[in-house]
Amino acid sequence: MIPANRTDFEVIVVGAGFSGICAAIRLRQAGIHDFVVLDKADDVGGIWRDNTYPDVGVDIPIWGYCFSFEPNPDWRYAYAKGHELQTYAAHCVEKYGVREHLRLGIEVTGMRFDDERDQWNLQTGRGRLRARFVINAYGAFGRPKMPDITGLNSFAGTVIHSARWDNTTPLMGRVGVIGTGSSAVQIIPEVAERAERLTVFQRTPIWVIPKPDFRIPRLLRMAFRLLPGLLSVPRWIVLVWLEVLYNGVFRFKLPFTVTALEWAAGRSLRAQVPDPALRERLSPRYRFGCKFLTLSNRYYKTFARDNVRLISENIESATATGVTTADGQHHEIDTLIMATGFEVFERTSLPRYPITGTVGVDLGDYLHDNRNVCYEGVTLPPCPNAFIIHGPYSMTGSFFMTIENAVAHAVRCIIEAQRRGATRVAVKAEPYARFAEEMIARQAASIFYNSNCEAARSFYFDQHGDVPLFRPSTSIEAWWRMRRFPLADYAFSTCAAAEQQTGQRETS
Ligand SMILES: Cc1cc2nc3c(=O)[nH]c(=O)nc-3n(C[C@H](O)[C@H](O)[C@H](O)COP(=O)(O)OP(=O)(O)OC[C@H]3O[C@@H](n4cnc5c(N)ncnc54)[C@H](O)[C@@H]3O)c2cc1C
Repeated sequence: MIPANRTDFEVIVVGAGFSGICAAIRLRQAGIHDFVVLDKADDVGGIWRDNTYPDVGVDIPIWGYCFSFEPNPDWRYAYAKGHELQTYAAHCVEKYGVREHLRLGIEVTGMRFDDERDQWNLQTGRGRLRARFVINAYGAFGRPKMPDITGLNSFAGTVIHSARWDNTTPLMGRVGVIGTGSSAVQIIPEVAERAERLTVFQRTPIWVIPKPDFRIPRLLRMAFRLLPGLLSVPRWIVLVWLEVLYNGVFRFKLPFTVTALEWAAGRSLRAQVPDPALRERLSPRYRFGCKFLTLSNRYYKTFARDNVRLISENIESATATGVTTADGQHHEIDTLIMATGFEVFERTSLPRYPITGTVGVDLGDYLHDNRNVCYEGVTLPPCPNAFIIHGPYSMTGSFFMTIENAVAHAVRCIIEAQRRGATRVAVKAEPYARFAEEMIARQAASIFYNSNCEAARSFYFDQHGDVPLFRPSTSIEAWWRMRRFPLADYAFSTCAAAEQQTGQRETS
């Protein structure tokens, strides 16, 4: 057990979502026990703790959205609901002994590298902490984006963001939803059933394909429990499907995959919305894949309901009683739901808090002034001993694969530094530049260019016009490279002051 008053650690993990939980599990399995996992919230689970809006759930079949080392026989739905993920997070924390490392309710507000001691100083809401290594597992979708609407402060009703849901939010009266992305597609059909009137403000239409969801029969769950090996069957099916989707649609824009998915979405739209004019307004002007994969069996038909209106005019301003659109129409609203996504590549969210690396380099400026790139999606030359999970160019297929790959990379670096008695490990400039060049060149063939993706107005594109969310590679390649990258791509070194400090910590 780590004493509560300790402030100096070998490793600090920031974030107790699935990334932080995975890092903690792998550190323990590697024999590293001198670490804490910080989270600003009072519970684990990350986005699944925060996103509790009606019908929140996963967008890929659940067997592909869990840890490879912890298959779960108890999922109730093929597309599990948010609360199931929250239960799964708590289960992993208990089963793998992560609980004793947790320090909840502590927000990191910045971190600075001490060049003389080869360690990071972290400013937190509860004082200063120090660590040789920091794993930044603060997540990519944790900072809600609020739309910039003139006069919003004067709105007298309730305003709520989908990622900060409050179950007491009034949904019975006149409700407005701003946004038509992945969260909105889940929220809108639910709210339509409860509200007296629902007004949906759409900036960009979205491709929505049918969701092959089903309740997993009790017998099948029992079979999974008795014969856990059976779970690898649906898992491999999902992983192969994700690979086809990811490489076929995003990376290589294979005509068959893109057209097949557009056909499925179009068919569902035609079947659910009889009015051709309304169908036209719900039809995207960009290719499938320019935005997040979105599935629903209920979204399109919601717009055929009498109590639902689709508004595609831009919002001009808000007043005390509602929202005014560019055509001069005023829409009376009691509750305004912002399903407007997250700040992902903004200067304020990458990194999540100020990170000052070696010789005083500000990481945010570094990324902003150059390109948003991390070596293998994880490290940067000016930030020794620091790792980012979900860094630029890290994601392939399911986020769980991404997490496990990035954690494997970080833990390998830490173990190697310890093995060599090194106090500093930093990626060298040349492999970093090589990786950046390789990713940017590969992405040129992707769907994000030449498919009218600008019309999707997706958060995928950063200020450089790059799409650093996705790693243009197969999952197998990513898996291999994250575990077998040449150690010579890193510089390992030792400084005397740091060694002395380590000795002091070991004897304390
Ligand atoms: C609604 C929703 C649905 C999704 N569905 C899917 C899906 O179906 N498939 C898929 O592959 N991906 C999905 N994702 C992506 C999802 O983000 C990842 O799958 C994954 O859950 C991210 O885990 P994480 O631990 O990296 O980040 P998070 O879950 O965001 O956890 C990060 C943690 O860090 C903490 N933290 C942040 N900043 C600080 C700080 N300064 N100090 C201390 N603590 C801090 C936060 O409180 C949080 O607990 C979805 C995302 C959302 C928002």
